[in-house]
Amino acid sequence: MTGNNKTGENNWRPATALVHGGTTRSPFGETSETIYLTQGFTYSGAEAAEARFNGEDPGYVYSRYANPTVSMFENRIKMLEGAEAARATASGMAAVNLALMASVKAGDHIIAAKALFGSCRYICETLLPRFGVESTLIDGTDIDQWKAAVKPNTKALFLESPTNPTLEIIDIAAVAEISKSIGARLIVDNVFATPMYQSPLQLGADVVVYSATKHIDGQGRCLGGVVLSDEEWITEEVMPFVKHTGPHMSPFSAWVLLKGLETLPLRVAQQTSSASKIADFLVGQPKVARLIYPGRDDHPQADVAKRQMRAGSTMLALEIEGGKEAAFRFVNALELIKISNNLGDAKSLITHPATTTHQSIGEEARAELGISDGILRFSVGLEDPQDLIEDIEKALSVI
Ligand SMILES: *Cc1c(COP(=O)(O)O)cnc(C)c1O
Repeated sequence: MTGNNKTGENNWRPATALVHGGTTRSPFGETSETIYLTQGFTYSGAEAAEARFNGEDPGYVYSRYANPTVSMFENRIKMLEGAEAARATASGMAAVNLALMASVKAGDHIIAAKALFGSCRYICETLLPRFGVESTLIDGTDIDQWKAAVKPNTKALFLESPTNPTLEIIDIAAVAEISKSIGARLIVDNVFATPMYQSPLQLGADVVVYSATKHIDGQGRCLGGVVLSDEEWITEEVMPFVKHTGPHMSPFSAWVLLKGLETLPLRVAQQTSSASKIADFLVGQPKVARLIYPGRDDHPQADVAKRQMRAGSTMLALEIEGGKEAAFRFVNALELIKISNNLGDAKSLITHPATTTHQSIGEEARAELGISDGILRFSVGLEDPQDLIEDIEKALSVI
């Protein structure tokens, strides 16, 4: 390992850090990052093994603990996020579970905004209470509800912004203030905004989690996740959890995601620009009852969005006039835009949340979250936006 990184790499701007950050090279000096597909590592002697295990020698021990390709991914995304430390995981859900489990013990309490990705909601609402961790789910856009939910044993606050699928914006700085005042840890799932357009740590959050499956891969190839925070918590709480329970990222996925990071700024910028154009087009359409896009002034929380996001995101939501039947007819008439529950992809993807991602939470919970039967979530891809608009126009005409 030559480790020939230039000094001063922390001063790199994001686009540079995403191409070069964290790179370590083998003695061959390869251009592209090496995939270290190895379970373990060998030692030059018994003394070397001893030193590795007691921490005197910081080298690698076993890929469940750490792996050189995974370390490159962690170091690269850490630079982008401006975090002290990162741990990569097998999926976004492994990252969310890790961040929550490393924050609480039996007898603690957490508060979460109820507009959560389905599996995140399961962890907060069902799984944690099973282990003696109480949870309160609130409307995250109402800051008073966060304050009112605080208990003496509140240890973690958890939110997503923009939320899935209705793209509500939660004031991260305001929630961070509450969290700091009670000494709890604020965990932000930053998937929808992407690291390019929202920096929760700078807004006062303690932990950022990603499903790297989404924009970071962005090409539909593999799952991954990452938890970013301060060095102390990652070393003391997150690392032992990963080491002993095994939610680590595979070196192959880490390599795919390293390549994803190289083009992340370009892809997200193009997808966001297209999303903004499509949002403007959809607003004028008679069959579209509602259009929700965080980059538009008519978004219900446009002021908060402007304060904490650098752009409107690659995602938009629209409500088709005529409920489920009309929404299905529209979606089925799309040719270019694919029906899928994934997001952040190079390919434009559309989802009907009420019958897919949010089917299991039930009608009452959907109504509470504003997920009507006409709502569609649209992840804008890398196609020419004019082709996407023409596909939408044609499908709208058949409703
Ligand atoms: C997809 C997603 C997750 C889960 O990530 P996986 O990689 O699918 O496990 C968590 N939170 C949000 C907001 C997501 O979009």
